[in-house]
Parts: sequence; C-alpha cells; structure tokens
Amino acid sequence: MSCQRVFCPITVILAGILLLGACTEQTGPPPYGLVIHGGAGSGTRADISPDLEKRMRAAMSDALDAGITVLKNGGSSLDAVTEAIQVLEDAPEFNSGRGAVFNAQGGHELDASIMDGSTLAAGAVAGVKTVKNPILLARAVMERSPHVMMAGDGAEAFALSLGMVPVSPDYFDTGRRKKQLDRALQKLRNDNTRRSDTHQRSDYFGTVGVVALDSAGNLAAGTSTGGMTAKRFGRVGDSPIIGAGTYANNDSCAVSSTGHGEFFIRHVVAYSICARMQFDGMSVQDAADDMILRELAQVQGSGGVIAMDARGNVAWPYNTASMIRAHQSRDSEPRILLFETE
Ligand code: ASP
Repeated sequence: MSCQRVFCPITVILAGILLLGACTEQTGPPPYGLVIHGGAGSGTRADISPDLEKRMRAAMSDALDAGITVLKNGGSSLDAVTEAIQVLEDAPEFNSGRGAVFNAQGGHELDASIMDGSTLAAGAVAGVKTVKNPILLARAVMERSPHVMMAGDGAEAFALSLGMVPVSPDYFDTGRRKKQLDRALQKLRNDNTRRSDTHQRSDYFGTVGVVALDSAGNLAAGTSTGGMTAKRFGRVGDSPIIGAGTYANNDSCAVSSTGHGEFFIRHVVAYSICARMQFDGMSVQDAADDMILRELAQVQGSGGVIAMDARGNVAWPYNTASMIRAHQSRDSEPRILLFETE
C-alpha cells in the first residue's frame, strides 16, 4: 500500500478540522485592549504617601477608562493611546505634562512620541517648554506635518501655528518635583566627577506610556515624559526616539519604554523587541524579557517596558524594583499595579 493512499483521507480530514478552527476563530468578536505604564524605579510603598498612592491609582483608572472607552466604541488604537496619555499628562502625580520633573536649571523640557502600527507613521517632540499636552503635538507632527520629529523652539512654533494655546513654563512647577530636584542637585554637588546618576528611590516613577490594540487589529504606542530629574538642559532621552522609547508595527508588537533613557537609546529597546518577534519568531513575552531582563540588565540599564502583540498578548517586564502598570481588554477587568508585591 502506498503512503499516499493512507495519508490522503487523513490529510483531507485534518485540513477540514483546521479550516473549521480558522473559521470559528474569525467569527468570534475581535480582541482589543490597552496597557499603561507610569514609570519604573526602585519605588516601594514606603516611598509614596497613602494620599499620593490613592491619587496615582485614581489617575491610572481614569486613563484606562478613557482608553478602553475609545476601543469599546470601535475607535482606533491611536485615539486610545492619545486619550489615555492626555489624562496622565494632566495629572500632577506623573512625570509627563503637568507633573514633569525639573532640569538642572530649574526649568522643564518635555518629550513625547506616538506611532501607528498599521502604517509605521510616527510623530515626536523633544524639549518643549510651553506645550500643555506634548502627546497631542507629537500626534500633530505625525498627521499634520511631513516630519517625524520636531524639537525646541521649532516644535513650539508649530504648536502655535496649529492654534494650540501655550501654557506658562511654571504651569509644570510642582512641590514634589522641586524636592526631587533639590535632592538630585545636592547629590551632584557631593560628586565631583559630576557623572552621578541623579535618580534615586522613587525618582523614576512617573513617565507614562500606553500601547493599544483596536478591534480592527491595529496596534499603536505612545510615551510622554519630563525626562530625568536634574538633566542638563538640552538633554533628550529615549521617550521621543522612535525605536528606543516607542515603537509599533502590526507585524510584531507595540512597545513603550521607561527607565534610564541613555541605555534605551543605545540598545534601541522598543524596536529590538519587535525585531526579535518578527525575525526570530519569539513571543512578545520572550522578546520583551530577553531585552529587559537579560540584555539591559547585563549593562545595568534600569527600566522596563509594556508590550502588546497583534492578538492582545501582553508583556511588562522591568529590571527595577517595580513599575506602575495597568491593563484592561475586551475580556478582562481593569487591573492596576503600583508595586512589585500586590
Ligand atoms: N526614559 C525617560 C528618560 O530617560 C525617563 C523615565 O522613563 O523615567 O527621559
């Protein structure tokens, strides 16, 4: 008896089962969901007052709500990312928008970026001082200019030309960030090499990022930050760098990073996670873990990422003591985690 005769009916039956499986999968409602981070660092419950913790949880909850409402109503992942980040930019508890950290000169320079996984369109702004919601300006760079990235005065002029109302630079002054600056400057004064890492304890906490998948199957990612406390003026971190702080591609995943930006730029973190999936066939969990827990950890590059693939699978590894994070999807309830152990 030839092999062909034996396998033929079996092959037909198997093909039928597979086809049926594929059809059943396609007829179910499409998945959607979003993940948010609020920064990674060495923060523990002891570093944050109960009142601050409460306010942070409330802002994370509002941001999740804003994003999931867009997705539930059939809106785009880009809109979900934009809306959720805007909520956190307006919350003084986070290091983005209103609660941005101070640079060494006592000012604020804000960075943000956004990327559309369906087209690879992207927009970013760096070093803006009077833009209330940098994520909106990043999105405008993507959609209303031929460019990907604009910085400083040019970015501010572009915002004005679009009718965005500027805020006074002191809109971003908050007492908590001022105390962090004073601590960081003191540390720098005590370090005559002037190369000290001014981040300590909970100082990383606060940069925000969102990744989302919409019911049309499109991924998007965005990140917004005030950068690192006591940074030199003019310093730009990873958050507005497409490929380092933010990346999205429907063929692999959407990523937003947080942590010590210089390391995230050198290791092109967000893109490298997507590339591991696309070219090495890794899962989103393995790709993100390999980058954060192995490659970055090896060089003491501290921080974490949130990542989501085109089926809504989520990874959120961090090599710091904790990362503020939240998730909600079509099939799951809101989940907000501020600390490592909860
Ligand atoms: N990655 C940001 C930066 O280096 C800071 C952070 O995520 O906390 O500017």
